[in-house]
Amino acid sequence: MTTGIWVLGNQLSLQQSALKSFAENRQNPPIILIESLNYAKQRPYHQQKLVLVWSAMRHFAEELRAAGWPVTYKIAEEFETPLKEWIDSNNIRNLLVMTPSDRPFTNLINKLEISCSLKFIANNLFLWSLADFKDWAKSRKRLLMEDFYRQGRKDFNILMDANKPVGDRWNFDRENRKPPQKSLDIPDKKWYEPDLITREVIEKVKSLDIEKYGSIEPFRWGVTRQQAREVLELFIAKSLLNFGTYQDGMVTGEETMWHSLISPYLNLGLLHPKEVIEEIAKAYEKNKELPLNSVEGFIRQVMGWREYMHGIYHYVEEDYSEKNWFNHTRSLPKFYWDATKTDLNCLRQTLTQVEKTGYAHHIQRLMVLSNFALIIGTSPQELKNWFHAAFIDAYDWVMQTNTIGMGQFADGGILASKPYASSANYINKMSDYCQKCKYKHRKRTGKNACPFNYFYWEFLARTRDKLKFIGRMNLVLANLKKIAADELEEMQTLAKQWQEKN
Ligand code: FAD
Ligand code: SF4
Repeated sequence: MTTGIWVLGNQLSLQQSALKSFAENRQNPPIILIESLNYAKQRPYHQQKLVLVWSAMRHFAEELRAAGWPVTYKIAEEFETPLKEWIDSNNIRNLLVMTPSDRPFTNLINKLEISCSLKFIANNLFLWSLADFKDWAKSRKRLLMEDFYRQGRKDFNILMDANKPVGDRWNFDRENRKPPQKSLDIPDKKWYEPDLITREVIEKVKSLDIEKYGSIEPFRWGVTRQQAREVLELFIAKSLLNFGTYQDGMVTGEETMWHSLISPYLNLGLLHPKEVIEEIAKAYEKNKELPLNSVEGFIRQVMGWREYMHGIYHYVEEDYSEKNWFNHTRSLPKFYWDATKTDLNCLRQTLTQVEKTGYAHHIQRLMVLSNFALIIGTSPQELKNWFHAAFIDAYDWVMQTNTIGMGQFADGGILASKPYASSANYINKMSDYCQKCKYKHRKRTGKNACPFNYFYWEFLARTRDKLKFIGRMNLVLANLKKIAADELEEMQTLAKQWQEKN
């Protein structure tokens, strides 16, 4: 019986479960990869996201060919036609696919009308299997990330000293998240000049008559496993040292700070989370001068947050993506699609950076882009769709929990213990954006009052009947009560006027 393997665009690893056993037994059944134009039409993707995915696919196909696999690479409108042709011409009786990490893709594959049997093999591109996550989750009242993370540290024996966490603490957050200093020496990152394959994809994307977002050039992302490894290695050598300390800082013109930029590679399968955390732990073993707050802080991101978000996505019901606890229905302001259309400096800086690179770091995503959308009452689904289109590392599995759950609290608290809403105070503390803004970060009423301020209090006043049941909101709601009625009214008027203009 001829077996064939369909490798999806974010499964680009020789170790992925559909390829692994064949690779180990030196068998090379036929493989197909399909570049579908319909994928690109689903939403106005960032042009660099299309280039990244298609160029990485083309490079992976070359790598497979060089290793002796018979690879068919199809460029087509949709998946079904080329798949059927390949099945017939290779006499495939048994099609293997590693289960997609995105549920809509599994549904799409299940609906394809193909003439052979179809078998999904469990996805192995995460540390936790879905069955293990379910076992962990099912007996718990609250699915706390911290509990999940500690379990992972023990199970995978990472940063453990027998049964105790190295350094006697699980969490070094107290030492992290310092505001950025005046003169910072931010380490270089690994970027790449496009090779011939990437240049061909760039030309293809330019020529497509579809809705697109962001700049296509300069395109500087890595597109192979080797390049992804180099990005990781340079991060460990240069940036890990200060990763924790300045994790939340934002500085004008500094796109990457001490962040790793490995999410696009992890999410395509070019890096595996296991190798990432092992490399970090190994670096710490070799060099105890590396501060534990950075080492632990980074491992928490990859084996804590990333795995937790993936586990929750598959654990909750499929209607999670439709959740809207605050009943927010406002359209996303148009300037999210065009940074030049906003004069709020923090938003303008961050959106300009996203247009240029497809990337922003966690705090820019959470406390600038998502926070503003939350306090002005944006539909969580519209925001999720924007994030999904605009970011280089966006996929359904990572988008839903991060935007619907963490960013918008639209799940009513399955994931976060309180909404991530804040005034200008936080942005001013953690960035230099306010210094160059026409709005006054200290003002919440009057001329040039910062919109983050009046919307923050307007949001709290508007949603207080819901928020009063959340213990961690008691303090801010007590502060809300202290605001004089006429001042609150003025903030509500400013919010209304802003809404009417935007
Ligand atoms: P670093 O700060 O260097 O962190 C290391 C790694 O930890 C990341 O590469 C990532 O793989 C992992 N990680 C950390 N936090 C998370 C998290 N909350 N969820 C998943 N992985 C995490 N991440 C994506 O991969 N794709 C997305 O589309 C995405 N959208 C987001 C939208 C919102 C509203 C928010 C709040 C977060 C989003 N994240 C997303 C999570 C996180 O912001 C990015 O993973 C991170 O900024 C990627 O940059 P980096 O590789 O430099 O990360
Ligand atoms: Fe953003 Fe307000 Fe600061 Fe301006 S003053 S950068 S709008 S938080």
